[in-house]
Amino acid sequence: MKGVVWQGAGRIGVETVPDPELLLPTDALIRVTSTAICGSDLHLMDGVIPSMERGDLLGHEFMGEVIEVGRDVKKLRVGQRVVVPFNIACGLCDPCRRGLFSACDNSNPNHRMAEALYGAVSGGGLFGYSHLYGGYAGGQAQYVRVPFADVGPFVVPDGVKDEQVLFLTDIFPTGYQAAENCGITPGRDVVAVFGAGPVGQFAARSAMMLGAARVIVIDRLPERLEMAARGGADTLNYELEDVLIGLQERTGGRGPDHVIDAVGLEAHGHGPGALADTVKQRARLTFDRITALRWAIQSCAKGGTVSMPGVYGGLVDKMPMGAAFAKGLVFRMGQTHTHRYLDPLMKRIEAGDIDPSFVITHRARLDDAPRLYQTFRDKQDHCIKVVLDPWA
Ligand SMILES: [Zn+2]
Ligand SMILES: [Zn+2]
Repeated sequence: MKGVVWQGAGRIGVETVPDPELLLPTDALIRVTSTAICGSDLHLMDGVIPSMERGDLLGHEFMGEVIEVGRDVKKLRVGQRVVVPFNIACGLCDPCRRGLFSACDNSNPNHRMAEALYGAVSGGGLFGYSHLYGGYAGGQAQYVRVPFADVGPFVVPDGVKDEQVLFLTDIFPTGYQAAENCGITPGRDVVAVFGAGPVGQFAARSAMMLGAARVIVIDRLPERLEMAARGGADTLNYELEDVLIGLQERTGGRGPDHVIDAVGLEAHGHGPGALADTVKQRARLTFDRITALRWAIQSCAKGGTVSMPGVYGGLVDKMPMGAAFAKGLVFRMGQTHTHRYLDPLMKRIEAGDIDPSFVITHRARLDDAPRLYQTFRDKQDHCIKVVLDPWA
């Protein structure tokens, strides 16, 4: 089959590789019909995430048709069309039973490697995201093996198009969880979203679905701010005006009630803490991550929430903790528990509350992946989200 592979730092290729096979009786094989490039894939491309090996298959946002299931798979059946969460969860361990799917104790066989970097604990396995996160082959390919097939894959109804449901794999639940973590009081609260990348876009629209009186999106790229505005958000370009003054002016001096830090969300929690500095430096090319967090804390209204879906693994310096303490802010963060959101967000899509395909700017063949990784990384051609068809 064809797949997008890591060929060394800075090098992405499309190669012919062996088809995957069932390895465990709880596995399923999926024929991938649509797959997306995520901002966090860029960190793999650039070589800032360790433990990648030449030939590793990339991609954690994918969906397709079930073509084979192991003998212990009870619910999933051949022929079903499914979306698959980017994080892998066993469904049986203590975190999984509590709905903390991204913290699964059993899905990352290389957890000791991750623990060594994080200090104490690590999350579960991830598709296509280095050996540190389990060494699972990714889904930017024609076929993919899916472990714990009765836990992750979610059957999608006929009649909805791939591009309407593909982002249930990651960026829609990630943005939604960030908004949900704000505890929005409907009709009253103003929510500010720092960063208008794919996750920031979904965080903004999710905040509106959850009843925010107003959503203000902050970025510097006009095409990203325009996309947010089309979704009903107010916008603030931090290159054109002072962020703190601008947010005060828009909220009668109170500041936004809740603030979502979706900057560099491209890195959304996949990056180990030891690499935070590298990621930070990279993010600084567009939007300094720590500056955004400081702005978030400084701008947030008293008693508000700072919601951080983004990567914060290591040590953060010069956080204005005095301001956070004085205002009694609540901090919420962490990797997305994607599995929780599949059913409720599918219902939102079916009800017409949102059509997630709004975020797509580029559609291409799998063979075009190497070029589009570059386009996306360099933010050329107004690129916000790329979807690939492995069979075109
Ligand atoms: Zn992703
Ligand atoms: Zn588990």
